Amino acid sequence: MPQELQTRLEVSGLVRRFDGRAAVEDVSFEVLAGQVVCLLGPSGCGKSTTLRLVAGVDRQDAGTVSIDGRCVAGPGIEVPPEARSVGLMFQDFALFPHLTVAANVGFGVSGSKAEREERVAELLARIGLSGKARAYPHELSGGEAQRVALARAVAPRPKVMLMDEPFSGLDERLKDDIRDHTLAVLKEEGTAVLLVTHEPDEAMRMADQILLMREGRIVQRGTPYHIYTAPVDRAAAAFFSDINVIRGEVHGALTETPFGQFLAPGHAEGAAVDIVIRPQHLKIDFDRGGHGPLPTPEDGTPARAVVERARFMGRESLVEFRMDHDGSRLSATVPQVFLPKPGTVLWLTIRRDRCFVFPA
Ligand code: ATP
Repeated sequence: MPQELQTRLEVSGLVRRFDGRAAVEDVSFEVLAGQVVCLLGPSGCGKSTTLRLVAGVDRQDAGTVSIDGRCVAGPGIEVPPEARSVGLMFQDFALFPHLTVAANVGFGVSGSKAEREERVAELLARIGLSGKARAYPHELSGGEAQRVALARAVAPRPKVMLMDEPFSGLDERLKDDIRDHTLAVLKEEGTAVLLVTHEPDEAMRMADQILLMREGRIVQRGTPYHIYTAPVDRAAAAFFSDINVIRGEVHGALTETPFGQFLAPGHAEGAAVDIVIRPQHLKIDFDRGGHGPLPTPEDGTPARAVVERARFMGRESLVEFRMDHDGSRLSATVPQVFLPKPGTVLWLTIRRDRCFVFPA
């Protein structure tokens, strides 16, 4: 089997309870060689507990963990963390302060002295710190120390790398750079990565596959694109951006709104539904009142709104509206600078192909 398709980590039916309450409930997933899988969810949803069970620093109540086809945790099996071939990287990673950068990176590497030196040199070159081989950790910047921690974690060629919020201690400006760098090194090494984060941006940036968790369970799994564009419910949509919600009622598989009709297949007759739309898909209809084209079928019918507040956010402007038809509030993001005065009347349309209809 090609290396990149090998299952490196397989987790099946994992359960962990604390005081009778399930922190992790029936969690199953796989990570392939060279793949980054991200456990994403709000604080307390069970991400770190899942990671700890995989690492072997905590013991599950049910389920199994297999690494490279070998069961390391299951009924009657409990392989200790150091024998699982996992690398660990946490937010408060600590380099050994009394060892040089080279010695830190070479710490867990086996083989002859020459082999170890070659591996260390290769990794230092890859993280761009060959010149710092003899430096001590206190002589490094936060970003450099993070790169050394990464090199140290991958140096023994672990089958699986477990990362728990590894970038959250870093300066905002450094973060993107280090994330990209880390990803490049991990991909080159072909390591299977399980990354825990509560930041949707980080998951979108790093993951091949996102496992969205809530209250101990995986509620949705898929590529970043899939999770963002086809959220499983309102909360999943709201986890990735602000959302607008328009309440409607279903009649004949359709919902009538001031923005026109929306398809609501699979919802019962008379059921209340929430039409969820991200602010970037609420459009200001600048042609209304002018001589522009009629709205396209995707855009539906324009609805009248009054500007309450407009703010410039850097790359875009955020405009908050009060809707004429029911006084509800909706917000739209508009590229660049668009700052209409409060009280301005505008017409809004919504991208029907970009909205989601969920049970209310
Ligand atoms: P965070 O991002 O805040 O770390 P998380 O998603 O990683 O959150 P976990 O740390 O896995 O969440 O915790 C899941 C639940 O299990 C929480 O309700 C937490 O309080 C509980 N929990 C975790 N570890 C223990 C423990 N050792 N004893 C008791 N309860 C625990």
